[in-house]
Amino acid sequence: MLHFTPTILKNLFSKSATRLYPIEKREPFENVRGELDIDIAGCKLCGICARKCPAACITVDKKKGIWQVDPFACIYCGICADSCPTKCLYFKGQYREPVIQKVVKIMEKPVEEQVDQSK
Ligand code: SF4
Ligand code: SF4
Repeated sequence: MLHFTPTILKNLFSKSATRLYPIEKREPFENVRGELDIDIAGCKLCGICARKCPAACITVDKKKGIWQVDPFACIYCGICADSCPTKCLYFKGQYREPVIQKVVKIMEKPVEEQVDQSK
């Protein structure tokens, strides 16, 4: 025990080597992609993003007007955003918030907007 006393005292009175995340957050690095998001009003539910996604984590249901992504399967490659014809997909530039349960992000497009987009 005596052998460890200096180390114990040092650790007790020195600054922590880690941050108190998520209370204390680090600024994201430059050019970090971060969480994928969508401006659903600009989406025309074409499904290109879903077909291009290498992780198969995007689902588009044109009939129901639903676009959804599983953020826990996303590898942040950016292919979906690059291939979206309306450029409505974007990255927030921030890391995803920690959660206690995995959830799929579901976005629903109002019916009248679906009609407008098909003109
Ligand atoms: S590629 Fe763009 S417009 Fe097409 S479904 Fe995906 S997000 Fe919507
Ligand atoms: S960033 Fe890549 S893995 Fe994530 S949803 Fe887009 S295409 Fe799929």
